[in-house]
Amino acid sequence: MPSDAAPEKGSQSYCRFVASRGSPPLDGTAFLGPAGVEFDLGSGQPRHIWSYGRLRSEEPIRTNAIDVLLTSKDAPGASLFVQGARFAADLRARAPQLSARAAWLREKRFWFVLLAVLAALVVAAYMSGISPAKSIAQVLPDGWRQRLGNVSRESMTEGHKECIDPAGVAALKRLTERLAKGLPAKVPFDVHVYDWPLMNAFAVPGGQIILTKGLLDKSQTPDETAGVLAHEMGHGIELHPEAAIIRGVGLGATLEIILGGTPGGGLANVGLMLAQLGYSRRSEREADTHALELLKAANISPKGLGEFFSRVTKLEAEHGDKAPGGFRWFRTHPPPAERARLVSAQQDYPATPALDASDWEALKSICRTTRAPEDAT
Ligand SMILES: [Zn+2]
Repeated sequence: MPSDAAPEKGSQSYCRFVASRGSPPLDGTAFLGPAGVEFDLGSGQPRHIWSYGRLRSEEPIRTNAIDVLLTSKDAPGASLFVQGARFAADLRARAPQLSARAAWLREKRFWFVLLAVLAALVVAAYMSGISPAKSIAQVLPDGWRQRLGNVSRESMTEGHKECIDPAGVAALKRLTERLAKGLPAKVPFDVHVYDWPLMNAFAVPGGQIILTKGLLDKSQTPDETAGVLAHEMGHGIELHPEAAIIRGVGLGATLEIILGGTPGGGLANVGLMLAQLGYSRRSEREADTHALELLKAANISPKGLGEFFSRVTKLEAEHGDKAPGGFRWFRTHPPPAERARLVSAQQDYPATPALDASDWEALKSICRTTRAPEDAT
């Protein structure tokens, strides 16, 4: 360390001091003393000393600075302008808190604090029962949810042909639009049927829904299919698929799928994962509540929803794990008794069949024409 006891004349720099806002500026000379910046403002005036540790600068002092504008905690309201690149460089060495790097760290600390606050909020939300995954799902842009949906659907239906018989597609569109009338906002739903013997229905992100041929075959009335479809729309409205993926693979991997467009590596099974995770009882109840609202707004009887799930649950109980095509998914649903109570608690309202006879026939035959997976858009 060089001795600062007697500063050389050469290190003196021109300075301008303002005691407080509005007071006249005083010119003088400043130099770097052993403990602080010292400055004289003409003869007869006492020398001021602003200690290094108490200094602040209006702007961080960068390596190429040619002057500095200082304040001190010891002299509130006062400011000191000092000219000279050499002065600025030497001051940076003695009062590192004034450097650009220190300012950068201070700014970074701000982000760290912000992150910590966010993390605390997420924990608080979690503790109070609000799902952080769902909160994240809610802020995903629509286009991102669509892409996540495309990837999920592709991965989930791998190896199965999409059913595209025009009359069936038209019937399904009519049913979907009828149910969508009861939606709170204009949420577009996109329903696809696959030639797949497994009896199932899935909601994937972006309002996309997958129905299987196995499910259509097992439906005895159009009201039953409408009930299942309305239930899946309920999952879609609540963004359950989006939240399940974020919870299952993490936000980072979810964004990777969205931005990459195709699942890579361990993410290839995102659809399978979504199919196997199942939803919590609470999510199922939420989906049912929406389903009942949608059915009512569409003047479709809610009885189909109850009947279908009761029959399927009975089948499942009879066949157990040997159930053909796998009924596993239905196990995560509320017990049929609970759903039956929910359905019977509904007040009667005028209802007509979900589809007329010819549309129902067309929907049941939708797999007459199929599209191979590689032709799919
Ligand atoms: Zn469900």
